[in-house]
Amino acid sequence: MFFIFGWNHQDTTSYGHVEEHLCQNCHNREFWHLNKITTYFTVFFIPIFIQENCYWYYCPTCNYGIKLDKDEFLNYKSIAEINSYFLENKITEEDRIKKLDETYSNIEKANQLKKAKIIAESKNWVELASKKTTNELLTIINEERNEFNPAFIIAAEIEIKKRNTINK
Ligand SMILES: [Zn+2]
Repeated sequence: MFFIFGWNHQDTTSYGHVEEHLCQNCHNREFWHLNKITTYFTVFFIPIFIQENCYWYYCPTCNYGIKLDKDEFLNYKSIAEINSYFLENKITEEDRIKKLDETYSNIEKANQLKKAKIIAESKNWVELASKKTTNELLTIINEERNEFNPAFIIAAEIEIKKRNTINK
């Protein structure tokens, strides 16, 4: 008889210092740290595949922190790398500020694009809501809200409010 036994194994990668925050849990002002926690499925201690990546941004004093999504993680990772280079004397303070400036402006650009996309999507939802009859909208809001995109429900509620004001 042959048994294969597998279980999960976790690896933590530390990326170092990112930004200074006042921790709402321990009230210390510290540079928060960035970690990636990778969970592998292993068989006989050999990692077979990655099961999950978790991105963790936390206060080094009390370990209070937040989970990041992948985009946020990549942004914070760039900042942590710049800070590490500086701490290891690989770049000057002047270079550090210049690189941080570039990174923040790239993040800003990416956020603007994300925002523009969300606004464009909202416009589509508003248009869709404006094409429905009041009865259809009421049914959706009151009975079927779980079946629709939350952004559409908001648009539907605004549309109803608008129609009510016009009728008064
Ligand atoms: Zn803390």
